[in-house]
Amino acid sequence: MGIPFQNTYAHLPARFFSKQNPAGAPEPVLIRTNPALAKELGIDPSWLNSPAACATFSGNEIPEGAEPIAKAYAGHQFGGFVPQLGDGRAILLGEVVDIHGMRRDIQLKGSGRTVFSRGGDGKSALGPVLREYLVSEAMHALGVPTTRALAAVYTGETVEREEPAPGGIFTRVASSHIRVGTFQYFAARQDNEAIRILTDYCIDRHYPQAADAKNPALAFLENVIQSQALIVAKWLPLGFIHGVMNTDNCAVSGETIDYGPCAFMDTFHPDKVFSFIDRNGRYAWGNQPTIAHWNLTRLAETLLPILDPSPERAKELAQAALEKFIHHFQSIYLDRFSKKLGLSELLDPDTRMAFLKSTLGALTKESIDFTLFFRHLTLFAKHDARSNLDQMINERWISDWESMRKSENYSAIMQAHSPILIPRNHRIEEAIQAAYQNDFSLFHRLADALTKPFDENPAYADLELAPHPEQCVKNTFCGT
Ligand code: AMP
Ligand code: MG
Repeated sequence: MGIPFQNTYAHLPARFFSKQNPAGAPEPVLIRTNPALAKELGIDPSWLNSPAACATFSGNEIPEGAEPIAKAYAGHQFGGFVPQLGDGRAILLGEVVDIHGMRRDIQLKGSGRTVFSRGGDGKSALGPVLREYLVSEAMHALGVPTTRALAAVYTGETVEREEPAPGGIFTRVASSHIRVGTFQYFAARQDNEAIRILTDYCIDRHYPQAADAKNPALAFLENVIQSQALIVAKWLPLGFIHGVMNTDNCAVSGETIDYGPCAFMDTFHPDKVFSFIDRNGRYAWGNQPTIAHWNLTRLAETLLPILDPSPERAKELAQAALEKFIHHFQSIYLDRFSKKLGLSELLDPDTRMAFLKSTLGALTKESIDFTLFFRHLTLFAKHDARSNLDQMINERWISDWESMRKSENYSAIMQAHSPILIPRNHRIEEAIQAAYQNDFSLFHRLADALTKPFDENPAYADLELAPHPEQCVKNTFCGT
């Protein structure tokens, strides 16, 4: 029973982490657990609601076999380098090998201070725990590689934030928690030996095929570039804004990680941001590919010493790898948007890209809800009378689209790429506010609904709707 822990990261050299037990919680209450994920991890789902599970997810008991650690990492935050960040409010309990043979981390977030906490309390408010639960599981259901949610716990204590808030602990499952910033931590210390050990570890864990390449470190870099291009190319056609794409929030596994001030857009605007500190729009919707490339360039810099003995040659190899990013990104980005729009693949990519640009221009100009627009376009393509596309967008756009669309019925593909349900910010906020009044029903309903985002379900029709102006949530803070 319980979780069959392994601890490969904790057996790396001591400078990679600090041993750290969680602080524990005075009166923990399990809010939600994830039986489907548990099964995938090889954990008995019926164990999830046991007192032992609550003790594990609240940090009150160190499960047998776990060797808890806080990991060291650095990172560029909004462009400025911080040589030491690390798990200041997170503790890795250990790893499990899932039913597919993949190694996965199980981490507690909000479980107390570590050597990396600096001025922070190492805790988390319940709001961000519920937010990460909802958004990461929604991302999974939407087909985006992401960290997952295994459990959310109310700790029974109050944490001091702008306003006192109930405390929470989030149990995160990830392919690993190794970030671009983990490489930067060692690069900043000119610890090439550690870079080499970390690269080998990542190859073995995430990109085993790179081990057979002529230059494994280069193959690793190329793989990370490709997997980052893939996730960002999946975010954009969902209207997703990560919000804080610092290098410490960029996982080399290619999973989306760290759901702080993230959001799915309601009204479309390419310059939209969600973090109140992002005044220059560094992490705006449309800037995310550029930033991903910037982050990958930082990763490449850390790998230079092991790419080639000649610094010039190493730089050339890194540059050539980085140049491929835009191609990887654009082909997936255009493919997914073409499917959302139901465009004929007889059209050449330039024509499709030009039409996409003009579509996004129209959405911006007419302040159209991004998700509802594609929802109504799909219904329109089905010749469904419920569509009110013509009330959303001008006639000219519709006639242009008619000339570009696939002639045969393509609405099933369109529907499979245009979710009906996304975790809209005002719904998340509403669920958090109710939870703060001890009512978790809205949170559970939203979490249930978001497991099937592409399905028609009249029971959740209200969750499809865009916010009224007074419901709009302007910013989501990382105030954890
Ligand atoms: P994040 O905003 O989650 O990307 O975190 C950035 C850094 O700040 C990481 O090193 C975190 O561990 C640290 N941090 C954030 N909140 C806290 C907190 N409440 N206590 C200690 N460290 C924190
Ligand atoms: Mg982070």
